[in-house]
Amino acid sequence: MGRSIEQPSIELVARHIGDPVNRLRFLKAVAPPPTRGGRSGPWRAFFHYLLLAIVPLMLVAAFLVVRAAARAPAPEAWKPPAGLSRSVVSPALPEVWMVEKGSSEEVFSNGLHIDTRFAVSNHARSYLALPLNGPAGGRAVRRSVPAGIVFHTTESLQIPFEAQRNRALKRIGESLLQYVGRRCAYHYLIDRFGRVFRVVAEQDAANHAGYSVWVDDHWRYLNLNESFLGVSFEARTEEGQSDARLSPAQVRSAAMLTELLRGRYRIPVTNCVTHLQVSVNPDNMCVGYHTDWASGFPFEQVGLPDNYSLALPSVVAFGFVCDPAVREAAGPRLLRAIELAETAFEQRAAAAGMRLPAYRKTAQREYRTLLAYVKKAQHETRDASDGDSGQGDRLPGGP
Ligand SMILES: [Zn+2]
Repeated sequence: MGRSIEQPSIELVARHIGDPVNRLRFLKAVAPPPTRGGRSGPWRAFFHYLLLAIVPLMLVAAFLVVRAAARAPAPEAWKPPAGLSRSVVSPALPEVWMVEKGSSEEVFSNGLHIDTRFAVSNHARSYLALPLNGPAGGRAVRRSVPAGIVFHTTESLQIPFEAQRNRALKRIGESLLQYVGRRCAYHYLIDRFGRVFRVVAEQDAANHAGYSVWVDDHWRYLNLNESFLGVSFEARTEEGQSDARLSPAQVRSAAMLTELLRGRYRIPVTNCVTHLQVSVNPDNMCVGYHTDWASGFPFEQVGLPDNYSLALPSVVAFGFVCDPAVREAAGPRLLRAIELAETAFEQRAAAAGMRLPAYRKTAQREYRTLLAYVKKAQHETRDASDGDSGQGDRLPGGP
């Protein structure tokens, strides 16, 4: 009936709206209400005439928007340079559900068991996601859902992994758990037997990443204790060893835990990274204050792409530098990513028509401004403890 008349007009308008999001919004706005038994004659007529009134208005609005966009100067937006773009299609995740929840353990459908006997609480997670150039249009957004995962090593005492040392291995693992629990150090610890222990509740922040930086396609994150989950392996990078060694059981458990957390919070694969990749030192503006998993993290076996190949956002976005110690610790893949990041930063300076030292000063100043802003906001949130308002806060110096 009515659809046969109005549908072509709607499609004609929709075709002229270039931006797919706006097009979808338009189509949603003009979509006819679902047909139900009660909505007959008069209702249909009402919606029909409503649409006839809306369509010309939308046409004029679309025309004005397109004309304004054509006239407006290009916004000064930060775009991820080549090599930094995170537009990796995340593989579809199988659905993982909780099979059983007991007083000391949770069991999941992918085989994961989480031991909850040592779990502790901390303050509730709350952080500001700082817009890159995207949907929030210059407004930081307060969130409480984890945006990513940082992988760590405990760098704790290790004894040979042998059956006759089982008791000592268990004792060392348990004292480690109590230690990290007292410090609210991670959300999860995977011991040498591959057992997964919850340390800090997922909805709370944990003290695992200190000063740190990460950037995805839309958001910048500073100080990831609040925004990223911390997963640590009972492991140590021994003297003369380039990376920590994991037992096969630890790798299998990490894959199942990553699968659960990614599915639960829709975490993109490129936001699952190692501590060195995110760690920074604001005192000397160097990358890699913490160097755990500088190389050798088994991304592939954990079900992730090789995220060592991502250019370091702290370098590209804020002009951090890599000292020789970090270059030495980094494996070849991360070293390549550092070089890629440095080249990208030089290209940004050239594009801005600035000499490198001056441009670095500007980028580092922006980092310090944002850091002060994030710290102040965290402090205020802690004081107010009014939860996730979902309200945006205007960025300092932002539009
Ligand atoms: Zn760490």
